[in-house]
Amino acid sequence: MRNKWWIIIICLFFILMIPNILFSIKSEEHLKAFILSAIPQIFFIVFGISSTRNLKLILLFLSPLYIIIPFESWYILNYNEPSSSQIIAVVKESNIEEAAGLLGYYGIISKIFVGIILFIIAIIVSVKAPINKIPKGKKQKAILYVSLFSLILYYYVCFNLSPDANALQQQNFQENLSQDVNLTSGGLALGERRLSKSFPTGIIFRIKGYISEKRALENAIYHIDEIKFNPFRSIEIPNEEQEIYVLVIGESARPDHFQLNGYDRQTNPELSKIKNIFSFSNVVSPWSMTRLAVPVILTGKMDKNHLSPLDAGSLVTIFKQAGFKTYWISNQSPLGIHDSLISIHASKSDKLLYTNLGSYSGKSNYDIEIIKTLGHILNDKAQKKFIVLHMIGSHFPYEHRYPKEFDFFKKGEKINGPPLLLNQYDNTILYTDYILSKIIELIKTYTEENHGIGFMFYISDHGETLPTKECTQFGHGHNYDPEFMVASLLWLNENYSNRFKEIPKMAEKRKDYPFYSRQVFDTITSLAHINYNERLEENYWFSEKWKKEKRWVFGDRDFDMSDRGGACNEIR
Ligand SMILES: [Zn+2]
Repeated sequence: MRNKWWIIIICLFFILMIPNILFSIKSEEHLKAFILSAIPQIFFIVFGISSTRNLKLILLFLSPLYIIIPFESWYILNYNEPSSSQIIAVVKESNIEEAAGLLGYYGIISKIFVGIILFIIAIIVSVKAPINKIPKGKKQKAILYVSLFSLILYYYVCFNLSPDANALQQQNFQENLSQDVNLTSGGLALGERRLSKSFPTGIIFRIKGYISEKRALENAIYHIDEIKFNPFRSIEIPNEEQEIYVLVIGESARPDHFQLNGYDRQTNPELSKIKNIFSFSNVVSPWSMTRLAVPVILTGKMDKNHLSPLDAGSLVTIFKQAGFKTYWISNQSPLGIHDSLISIHASKSDKLLYTNLGSYSGKSNYDIEIIKTLGHILNDKAQKKFIVLHMIGSHFPYEHRYPKEFDFFKKGEKINGPPLLLNQYDNTILYTDYILSKIIELIKTYTEENHGIGFMFYISDHGETLPTKECTQFGHGHNYDPEFMVASLLWLNENYSNRFKEIPKMAEKRKDYPFYSRQVFDTITSLAHINYNERLEENYWFSEKWKKEKRWVFGDRDFDMSDRGGACNEIR
């Protein structure tokens, strides 16, 4: 009978180690992963049992962890690494619908069910098992001191072992890339990051990382307010003359699915009819996730990891300081102001509106909401307006991004790969075409009535992987080539293109130039004839002095020089 209890107890302790074992198997460096995750846990458990001499008490103490083990194990199986501070942020911000989009309702319920069963078993065993306290003695003391010493030594080494540069970088990126994440940079020291890999003690470090990142973002909010661009106009534009400049940030839109760039399906029936429109076919974004890609567009700045730094001012800040009234309409999910660098920049605008109550992963309001709101904004009294419109665009699931009338590309047409998903994706591009043409129409009508000048600059945050015969994956957040090419276009109103004749000429000439989304900041300010002291003429897409810069993607890879490999065109 007693033996049976022992078997159950050993099984329970083994289950506690499952996340560490899975991480060791899934990681590319098995031994390193095992040392980082399983070893400290073994020391801890041995130390706990030998110091209290009470195995049942330790089991009772650890029992709540069984509830999260199925989720953590699922995460490691999918992402090849333990959850991180970023995931805590995502979980904190997510609602049940978003979680269901990722896991499915069945996935959530089954994991909770398994977790609770394990939890109940652990409690029953820790209460009922006929196992006595370990007797005091030399053996017990020896184990206690050896485990304590090992634990101290282990922590000392983890904190003091100098990083090999490669591993450090790798770890940094992995943490940032594990999902379409909220926060922008790791808040943990290297030693803590090493220790955060283990289960369950690492969770303490993950929570610590989350709190410190949150604080960093809170500080950034205050810091951004202090940034002074000291902007000045590079040409004289009278105060009473109307200026309407609009930046549209797209979502998951690939340039090769735009008819304007030569795609063989008619995905741009509306934009194709419009004059003074320039579509750029060779623009690269440094990141394949919204929350990392958009801040780079907004600030034009990148740190050594090629992330937008927390203390950089955005287009909103500079336009505001140049005397413009600034607006931000977002049809993406409203996230906590403290949890995303995008929402921090958005919060600096004079007027901020979120038009979407849906979610990324499920149904959402269509982008037509932006058009409705834009109409009101244009009628606002201010003469100088800078407006940012953030679309939900082509974010997966594609079928939820367009109304029925845009279900144009249907099943049955023969193209590469599973046709349904591609058809749905092309329908989102068709709908984006409609939305952009509506935005242009509104600005056009409004500026013509008031003899104003205006432009619309559109750029997608990142691209998208779509399934092909070879590659079965789709979506973004990976290091696949099509996730870094972004659709981008410029429209100038008649008044603007007549007045600044060299700009449309240059734009036409440079449609296929190798541009980088980091240069959008200087390109938009230049188009608006706003200058500032640190401005670099070589960043401006339409300047004679423009220079191609190294297009870093996914943190450390040169987009133009790196090899491609695998079924999905991985950038290596
Ligand atoms: Zn995105």
